[in-house]
Amino acid sequence: MTDTPPKNWRDEAACAGELKLFFSGDWRDWQKAKAICATCPVRRTCLTDSLEHEDRFGVWGGLDHYQLRETLSIDKNGDPIPNLKAVKCPYCRLRDIETLEKKRSRIHYRCERCDFQWWSRRAPVKREPKSDNVDPAVPAGGEAG
Ligand code: SF4
Ligand SMILES: [Zn+2]
Repeated sequence: MTDTPPKNWRDEAACAGELKLFFSGDWRDWQKAKAICATCPVRRTCLTDSLEHEDRFGVWGGLDHYQLRETLSIDKNGDPIPNLKAVKCPYCRLRDIETLEKKRSRIHYRCERCDFQWWSRRAPVKREPKSDNVDPAVPAGGEAG
């Protein structure tokens, strides 16, 4: 007898054969897909994997693509955007979030409720354009007087 190879978590996926539903353009299909995720035994692993790969299309781990991008703070091109809302756990959807580490372009979060951890992108800080050519003594619109 040979050893059984390690189990691939994808073998346990509840979405096997449902690809169309998960990549549909119809939000009603996303709801059906998310209902399947809610019953999936590997949802946590799937969500971790999806966020690590910065998946931004389709339904993964119970999140639709808007929620995935919001969690990652990226737009549909994968570019970082400011996350203007309070950070929410992508797994349990609660807002008790601890910041573990901040890097220049990424933030590491941890959910205090369910211990889910993930990295989100950080949008670069926008700086005011330099106004070297403008004489601060001259009001905008031309010379005074
Ligand atoms: S969580 Fe959803 S997308 Fe992920 S494997 Fe399970 S059913 Fe598929
Ligand atoms: Zn959580």
